[in-house]
Amino acid sequence: MRIIITGASGRMGQMLIRAVVQAQGAELVGATERAGAPSIGKDAGVMLGLDALGANITDNLDGCAAGDVLIDFTSPEACLNHARFVADHNMAMVIGTTGFDADQQAELDAILQDSPTVVAANYSVGVNLALNLIQQAAQVLNADYDAEIYEAHHKHKVDAPSGTALAMGKALAAGRDVKLDDVAVYSREGITGARESGSIGFSVVRGGNIVGDHKAMFIADEERIEINHFASDRMVFAKGAVRAALWLKAQDAGRYDMQDVLGLK
Ligand code: NAD
Repeated sequence: MRIIITGASGRMGQMLIRAVVQAQGAELVGATERAGAPSIGKDAGVMLGLDALGANITDNLDGCAAGDVLIDFTSPEACLNHARFVADHNMAMVIGTTGFDADQQAELDAILQDSPTVVAANYSVGVNLALNLIQQAAQVLNADYDAEIYEAHHKHKVDAPSGTALAMGKALAAGRDVKLDDVAVYSREGITGARESGSIGFSVVRGGNIVGDHKAMFIADEERIEINHFASDRMVFAKGAVRAALWLKAQDAGRYDMQDVLGLK
């Protein structure tokens, strides 16, 4: 499986290169960064202190060798451009980028309608299991249990709530057979009034180097149930994304998520 990584010297890009090197059956054939990035022109392996991989970091996908799948953890704007390249070259795509607004999401779906694509707000196996548990819990714990979602991330993260927190909210809403948009409360300030029954509240912390904490809470008058996940190393996301890339090899065009990759559906 010939893999291209965009955003190669980003926090996730570096982990993805390491994960590709470690994975059997995966080969890095291309790596890109934004124009002007200091890593342009360097070998992707040498940049990380590894053996040379024969893939130099370019500022343009046209400079990459032909690939089977492109893994993108960049920004929504950059990801849309990379998706156009994937569609034009009959490749597959693994998308980890989060923070798309509704228009960008619709554009992405249209561009990739004929491409095998995995999209996941979180590529960790543990988080995807937690999403299943949250949906199950929400089927049993009705609106007598006030549902709240908490997340914490490092100070550089630019979108909030995190894509994973939103995925948890969607799983919780699905378990209750409601739409997240109809019940979500994304922020509270000032005289907010009493909590509305059935709503799903979000709270967000940003600071330091927190890799990613997520918690779904079901709070009743007599008891509280919490489903927690703590990521301690970004490598967990990179390994999951490379696993998704290898899995895509055998898939037809269509949009898949990590639950498909892990056989949790
Ligand atoms: P980062 O800022 O460290 O890395 C992004 C990289 O993309 C940067 O190096 C930047 O220069 C590069 N980039 C920007 N525009 C580009 C372009 N046009 N071409 C090539 N490269 C370009 O950020 P990060 O922490 O690595 O996160 C990246 C994204 O991945 C974010 O949206 C984040 O929320 C998401 N993320 C998802 C998961 C998951 O499991 N789905 C896990 C971690 C992070």
